[in-house]
Amino acid sequence: MRQRLLMLCCLLGVCPLAPAQQEDYSQVQITSTPLAANLYLLEGAGGNIAACVGPDGALLVDDEFAPLADKIRAALKNLGADKPVRFVINTHYHFDHTGGNLAFAQSGAVLVAHDNLRTRLERGGTVGNGGSISMQVQPSPAGALPMVTYANELTVHLNGVEVRVHHYPRAHTDGDSVVFFPAANVVHMGDIFVRYGFPFIDINGGGDVRGMIAACVDVIRTMRPGARVVPGHGAVASLDDLREYVQMLEDTSALVQKALKAGQTLERMKKDKILGAWSARYSPAKGFIDTDAFTDSLYNSLIPPPPRAVGAGH
Ligand SMILES: [Zn+2]
Repeated sequence: MRQRLLMLCCLLGVCPLAPAQQEDYSQVQITSTPLAANLYLLEGAGGNIAACVGPDGALLVDDEFAPLADKIRAALKNLGADKPVRFVINTHYHFDHTGGNLAFAQSGAVLVAHDNLRTRLERGGTVGNGGSISMQVQPSPAGALPMVTYANELTVHLNGVEVRVHHYPRAHTDGDSVVFFPAANVVHMGDIFVRYGFPFIDINGGGDVRGMIAACVDVIRTMRPGARVVPGHGAVASLDDLREYVQMLEDTSALVQKALKAGQTLERMKKDKILGAWSARYSPAKGFIDTDAFTDSLYNSLIPPPPRAVGAGH
């Protein structure tokens, strides 16, 4: 499975979960695209980076993989950002978004994230959708752990703007941050919103499709018209793109919910291809989550927890 996953990812060039040691990063180039004044999208390998640059130094949202840290610094320099990276905000704990943590912390950046992200990085564990996708991750070294963590929200004041960091419970994981740049009308959503097809939902990491939907709906409500939405992976999107994605999440969830109510098993749902209408658009050619894997994610989000055994401890 792991091989298949890596192969698929790399074929598609998205590599959302490919661990650093198995990749050759020497050929990766970091490209930058302006999002607003002093705000850029950086793309290399792994998750999208938003970079706010200016006289106070740089703030990054996510930091891809460790071997790319120097290339990211060089890209910032090319943008005229000659001050060091002061803050890195992690949107979630997956290693294609946090791989550069140690390198940036060692050069003086303060790592910022949700409380649960720190715990998951510290402990390691299994990333997975409760079904076909499962991958072990090792505990992170102490230096890669966020020094500043928060429970609900946090604001960073830098380069004359506010950067608002907001936690949405149980979405892609249980430690997700969405990062708003209100003055620029830009938001970075981490992997709550991706554009490689059906999304990965880390059920083992506390993710749940209902939390993903709630987060997206709140972002749509919060942003002003014309907003630019940075997904965890893929091209910058509009609010209409995000609305379309929410529609897919809601409709596919409703299909699985209906099948659950009718007493169908997961195997039966897959066999009957109940997500059929959505598959052509979102799977498999466009992403590493095929229809069956996404059905796993939805099923494991929506199935009621088993009742507690009578007499079981508390
Ligand atoms: Zn992720």
